Amino acid sequence: MSTPDSRRPRPLLVIYTGGTLGMQETPRGLAPGGNIEARLARALRGLPAGSVAELPAYELLSLSNPIDSSAATPADWSRLAAIIAARYRDHAGIVVLHGTDTLAWSAASLAYQLQGIDRPVVLTGAMKPLEAPDSDAAGNVALALRFAANPALQEIAIAFGGRLLRGVCTRKWHTRDAIAFESPNAPLLGEQIAGTARHYPEHGLDREHGLDQEKDIAPRFELPDYAPLGDGGVARIALWPGISTRQLAAWLNDPRLKGALFEVWGAGNLPDDPALLEQLTRASTDGKLIAAISQCPHGTISPGDYAAGQGLTDAGVLAGGAMTPEAALTKLVHLLAQPLEDAERRRRFLAPLVGER
Ligand code: ASP
Repeated sequence: MSTPDSRRPRPLLVIYTGGTLGMQETPRGLAPGGNIEARLARALRGLPAGSVAELPAYELLSLSNPIDSSAATPADWSRLAAIIAARYRDHAGIVVLHGTDTLAWSAASLAYQLQGIDRPVVLTGAMKPLEAPDSDAAGNVALALRFAANPALQEIAIAFGGRLLRGVCTRKWHTRDAIAFESPNAPLLGEQIAGTARHYPEHGLDREHGLDQEKDIAPRFELPDYAPLGDGGVARIALWPGISTRQLAAWLNDPRLKGALFEVWGAGNLPDDPALLEQLTRASTDGKLIAAISQCPHGTISPGDYAAGQGLTDAGVLAGGAMTPEAALTKLVHLLAQPLEDAERRRRFLAPLVGER
């Protein structure tokens, strides 16, 4: 008996959320444009003949209100995950067209929500709109489609500027360059070489993290509603020379704050100031989930290597390893949005869930 899978090849699903890729000039500057299906098809037809012929078939879903991703909130992350969770079984892979400014945040968040996804979810965008001269839009979408058609890719990835990166490890790195994203602490998952989309399965989640494909990678989506945390429930606080206890207290004493990401120096240091540390201790004791990562883009933190970092551990602050700010903050949101005991939240924060640390 034929199953739906064997009857016909399932097209990819392309979800348009907004961003420069689909923007058009308005009197106030670039803003998300409409008619994306026809405009994208036209742009893809403009690619070199051979590469167009090989592109996988796709269906396009445009969100009703495409946005500049600088306006995205955690509620947008949960909406996007819910759409993918509802539709992924009908498609061999998913491509998400997204503005570049917060693309890495959405990718990180999707990784936690769609844990164990058994097919590719590839986010892409563009530095220049589809119709702009020398636009990177069609090339990026073509690359994303090719990777999204590869069943060996089973995670949330970003295809951009000829490269495929792990979504939860990636950051926007450049304001203008076509190679705009980097994953400073993770290897490439693939790249475009001589017109082919070369995938590196040896860097996939299962191999790299010793997970058992059958047992540990089966879809186990977690789709909590992030909206209640969207209005400042989690804060990002970067340390700077001269930060005062008063300023830190203003952040941490807000009763609406449920968690905070604290970005410290180097391998995990902060001023050895008892009043500052007291604020962190009090916030942790009050049940706020406080985590620390380094302001250095490369490398991991190990608070306690220096006396100046010991206070972090003593204050109950969770060490974020080599996580990016995007990975760490979206993980706090994800854990705080679920009805978990504090100890379980802390355990999960310290465990690598999707290759993020
Ligand atoms: N502001 C735009 C956005 O993030 C930038 C881009 O897409 O490149 O939607």
